[in-house]
Amino acid sequence: MTDAFIKQYLMTAGPTPVPPKVSQVMAEPMLYHRAPAFIEVYARCLERLPRVFQTSNDVLCFAASGTGAMESAVVNLTRAGEPALVASCGKFGERWAELCDAHGAATRHLEAGWGSKVEPDALDRALSDSGARTVFTTLSETSTGVVNDVRALAVAAHAHDAMIVVDAVSALGAVPVRQDEWGLDVVVSGSQKALMCPPGLAFASASGEALARATEAAGGSYYFDWQRTAAGQRKDPPDSAFTPAVGLFMALDVALGMIEEEGLDRVHDRHRLLGRAAREAARAHDLELYGPEDDNANVVTAIALPDGIDGAQVPKRMRDRFGITIAGGQGQLKGRIVRIAHCGYFGAFDVIVAIAGLEMTLRELGHDLEPGAGVAAAQRVFSEAGVPAGAPA
Ligand code: PMP
Repeated sequence: MTDAFIKQYLMTAGPTPVPPKVSQVMAEPMLYHRAPAFIEVYARCLERLPRVFQTSNDVLCFAASGTGAMESAVVNLTRAGEPALVASCGKFGERWAELCDAHGAATRHLEAGWGSKVEPDALDRALSDSGARTVFTTLSETSTGVVNDVRALAVAAHAHDAMIVVDAVSALGAVPVRQDEWGLDVVVSGSQKALMCPPGLAFASASGEALARATEAAGGSYYFDWQRTAAGQRKDPPDSAFTPAVGLFMALDVALGMIEEEGLDRVHDRHRLLGRAAREAARAHDLELYGPEDDNANVVTAIALPDGIDGAQVPKRMRDRFGITIAGGQGQLKGRIVRIAHCGYFGAFDVIVAIAGLEMTLRELGHDLEPGAGVAAAQRVFSEAGVPAGAPA
């Protein structure tokens, strides 16, 4: 094969591949954000978003990456000097602590350790006498693939009269998030992962109680003031407080339509199957899965690299030689794991491509493995499931 043609496969947990229909709509002429043609799209997005969060809240939208929505939660719910509790188990959980520190909160940090889940009992103990009114945690910890039981964490937080804020940036649209049923006070997310859009939209779904708390903490931010954005979105017809990211809303409208067409439960089932296939493929090669055994870890599969393999070389070679972009480890896991994503516009054969590329790369780097064993394991999962596992059209 010559270097002149290497087909590219994007297999990272954000940005994720964007369906052609979603890309195409962004090539339409720009719309004035107060014109009826855009208001219609905007109103439809605002109506559809809560269904994915499974909430009756307004989902507040910002032109920002996911971190913007996280920061909005910190500025609206905490005050300088007041205790806030962060329950983390990886890089993105640690970001909550950095954000709380940046805004002057008296941050308490429960660190479960990278590759572990945050345990509800540990949260319960950490909250005792902490004085914290807010817990910040993560649903899918993208740096390790771990998916926390945020429903149980919400019970622990509420037992101490604390609100719980959940980062579902990589989880929303891949694994179930039942915000109202699970009592999650705030859920934040972003457009560029399982929602199948480009980066640039950030979402915060805040309960009535959380919005009321935001009034108390008012003044921390102008752009991220939840009340200001809520007031605009609640007008009839809705009117964004600032110029909305028009093209991204057009994309989101199409992507949310695709999720509705497939059906949210089926979307989650597809991710479950993709996660299972990726894990079975790793097991077929005796490659260790990073993080606890978990049927819910369906956003990204973190695979520990065999001893003797230069970890930094794996994603680099996969990209340069085969055009397959996967992520390596971040922070303390740099060079030790690879992460194969399957969140968003992914189907069975995407996982098979990633596994085939990983097998070829590990062999080239000197690891003795049987080519095709992981691919076969993934194929078995897909065949046995007896369902079409293609990505949505
Ligand atoms: N939280 C999680 C769980 C994430 O996966 C990411 C992005 N990888 C973020 C937060 C940060 O989002 P962004 O890069 O869009 O600011």
